[in-house]
Amino acid sequence: MKYELPKLPYEYDALEPVISKKTIEFHYGKHEQTYINNLNNLIKGTPYENVPIETIVREADGALFNNAAQSWNHIFYFFSFTPHKNEIPKGMLAKAIDEKWGSFENFKKAFVDAGTTLFGSGWVWLVKDKDGKLDIIKESNAGNPMTKGYTPLLTFDVWEHAYYLDYQNRRADHLNSLWEIVDWKIVEKRY
Ligand code: MN
Repeated sequence: MKYELPKLPYEYDALEPVISKKTIEFHYGKHEQTYINNLNNLIKGTPYENVPIETIVREADGALFNNAAQSWNHIFYFFSFTPHKNEIPKGMLAKAIDEKWGSFENFKKAFVDAGTTLFGSGWVWLVKDKDGKLDIIKESNAGNPMTKGYTPLLTFDVWEHAYYLDYQNRRADHLNSLWEIVDWKIVEKRY
């Protein structure tokens, strides 16, 4: 199986000014393409050549895990956004967020705090456990909560390459601005 970079459901300039066209060109068009190229090279001639990428993320380690997880994480991240406003969760997910954090505003603050305090590179995740309970998980580097049995619902990338062109060192400003483009309809489907 040869993995390819999926076409995004929006134009590269559609998320401006939250994420610039230039950042998407580099972050998705170049960084993500490199992870996918590396993944294709690493699985050649191995038992992982024809298994779902989620299996590789759950089972592999080292360079294979890093490139499979980064490939998966970035697609999950970029497919969580929309230029159309769906800024507020509804239904069962909204209820679960209120139960866990008291309010949507409290949840957003806790999520950004987790991303801001993550030392170095990594990802902050909203996850669901096997009982349907929500939590916020911090993962370093390529980390993915599927390796711990969680279902990912939403992630923000806190590697500097995600925001440096647009926000330089202002990670918290970048994370707070992402709320304007999260597509909660997609997150609700994952829940
Ligand atoms: Mn990234």
